[in-house]
Amino acid sequence: MKTIYLDNNATTPVHPEVVEAMLTYYNTFYGNASSIHSFGRDVRKAMEEAREKIAGLIGANPDEIVFTSGGTEADNFALKGVAWASEKGGNHIITSAIEHHAIINSCQYLEKRGFDVTYLPVDKYGLIDPAQVKEAITNKTIIISIMLANNEVGTIEPIAEIGEIAREMGIYLHTDAIQAVGKIPVNVTELKAGLLSLSGHKINGPKGIGALYIKKGTRIVPFLHGGHHEKNRRAGTENIPAIVGLGKAAELAASQVKKKTKRLTELRDRLHKEITDKIDNVHLNGHPTLRLPNTLNLSFAYVEGESLLLNLDLKGIAVSTGSACTSGSLDPSHVLVAMGVDPVLAQGSLRFSLGPENTKKDIDTTVEYLLEAVEKLRKLSPLYSEKDENKPAKKRK
Ligand SMILES: *Cc1c(COP(=O)(O)O)cnc(C)c1O
Repeated sequence: MKTIYLDNNATTPVHPEVVEAMLTYYNTFYGNASSIHSFGRDVRKAMEEAREKIAGLIGANPDEIVFTSGGTEADNFALKGVAWASEKGGNHIITSAIEHHAIINSCQYLEKRGFDVTYLPVDKYGLIDPAQVKEAITNKTIIISIMLANNEVGTIEPIAEIGEIAREMGIYLHTDAIQAVGKIPVNVTELKAGLLSLSGHKINGPKGIGALYIKKGTRIVPFLHGGHHEKNRRAGTENIPAIVGLGKAAELAASQVKKKTKRLTELRDRLHKEITDKIDNVHLNGHPTLRLPNTLNLSFAYVEGESLLLNLDLKGIAVSTGSACTSGSLDPSHVLVAMGVDPVLAQGSLRFSLGPENTKKDIDTTVEYLLEAVEKLRKLSPLYSEKDENKPAKKRK
């Protein structure tokens, strides 16, 4: 069966050029980057070249890039590193209600350790209001952490405006740019960010590698202790193959972002239009325009997202739902709840996240099976037949 992968916000296929670049660093150049001999020097050089490419992708200096074990560690490092380095009793953190759990759960942990956290609300599109960020600032605020783009609905936040406020007030701004990097242009100077997280496996690179951009002069304490790696900022023998892979992925992302944005937007909009042309009672979650080019989150009334997902999976199509299925109970997504989406509609949400390998044919096939699945499930839904007697899911022309 031909498979169609529409879950690129969960993870992406590793680009063949990335795999190729990595293999050499398993087979031939296996040295430890801390060694003084030629084996060490060779891999050190490769590591620094990768660092330059990653810095180049986000407009940073190579010195400001610290490699981590992934996006989760970068997020944890930013928050805990700045929190633990805070002086003079600063203990207040500002974040939003729609962050990834790597941020939300780090904040909840810090709350248990004596920090105060403000979780800012969002509007119905998932947008944060910079004026509310400003209002939330106190003389104890040490860091503001707001994501650049949301992973579930794709909404792009006004980070440059928030960065301006943070700068005026002398507070660090961290942005989780893990979903934005590679999909839209990202530049730390334009965003006025002091810290920025990115992750390899969201940009067609390997899993288990990421980076934290730390602007020169930022007060932050290390998260891992051991050797003098990463200029004493992150101990542990560097994962050279993964670092080389991340470097290659960054290089490819930098050269392809413009082309990719255009193509993905076209495909995504085709998917959206086809679905709303053919199926009634479909609602868009996320901002209509201030949104990642590859992301489409829709709620299908009268059906459960999970059932739709499983029906599509039977046809080899991979999407995801906004709800996390935990021990049989369906919790609606915290993002959709924060946006004020009706809990019932939130249960009927599906996220399609496209990648460069998707084609128009993939889109049309997906719509065909989706229509079939929605019709089947709505027939079984008492709410749907009560509401609208035997009305087919298909729109009448
Ligand atoms: C995937 C993701 C993370 C976690 O990154 P990992 O590399 O998987 O640990 C954090 N934040 C956002 C927005 C993400 O999409």
